[in-house]
Amino acid sequence: MTEKTPKSHGRLTISASLQPRDLMAPPQVKGAWTARIVTLFPDAFPGTLGLSLTGKALDQGLWALETIDLRPFGEGRHRNVDDTPAGGGAGMVLRADVVARALDQAAIGTPPDRARWPVVYLSPRGRPFTQDMARRWATTDGITLLCGRFEGVDQRVLDAYAIEEVSLGDFVLTGGEIAAQALIDATVRLIPRVLGNQMSAEEESFSDGLLEFPQYTRPPLWDGRAIPEVLLSGHHAKITDWRRDMAERLTKERRPDLWRAYCAKHGRDPGEDQEL
Ligand code: SAH
Repeated sequence: MTEKTPKSHGRLTISASLQPRDLMAPPQVKGAWTARIVTLFPDAFPGTLGLSLTGKALDQGLWALETIDLRPFGEGRHRNVDDTPAGGGAGMVLRADVVARALDQAAIGTPPDRARWPVVYLSPRGRPFTQDMARRWATTDGITLLCGRFEGVDQRVLDAYAIEEVSLGDFVLTGGEIAAQALIDATVRLIPRVLGNQMSAEEESFSDGLLEFPQYTRPPLWDGRAIPEVLLSGHHAKITDWRRDMAERLTKERRPDLWRAYCAKHGRDPGEDQEL
């Protein structure tokens, strides 16, 4: 059996030549949060964002994904987008003029206020991405993400467009596409209506600056290991206390940095043990 409607996942590809809009694209909820991605590899999207909760929400038009292919903005017959680094050295650098043209295209119809529409370059030199940033981005109208490749992007375009640099972590990827997907995933699931059960967003790791408590499900006894008794007691107050204790203990053990911040916020002594 052939499928009647292709799964477009709400993906719109914006190209340099103005093409008619994809009529198969799902109806977009008015003002839906939109991620615009400038990339040499638009085929990398939606990638994992097309699956599960984020994919369903994308199909329903609760958020939108628009890729802007960098290639057509390139120079000359071969649409060159990169050149050798000034001052020498290995690799190639994405040209400022080429990236600027793509960013101009990406800016069409977006608010100039960066608080409402951040413009971000994925970069290992950037500010490390956090749950707080995801929370803030989930309240914006959308975001433009510039994915680098090779040795990165000419500094002048980053300066001229006042682009925020954000890192996925202290390691080096080959390109910004995986990082962009990670950032979008973390953000989209915080948009009301996208994550089915809002409670789980409130309880999970980082929501109160703590790592999440351990989770269990059936069977109650597996391989000689029982689920902690309190979780089967039906005593909600005790369960809440146990979960908080475990979350605190885990955070203290694994992430002293988070633990210190949590204690400062709650006026507690990070060395205290009596409550744990
Ligand atoms: N020469 C650069 C690394 C370039 S890696 C440097 O040393 O800083 C190529 C591209 O991958 C970058 O332009 C960036 O867009 C992306 N990238 C690599 N590591 C990343 C990370 N940790 N977070 C976000 N993006 C990353």
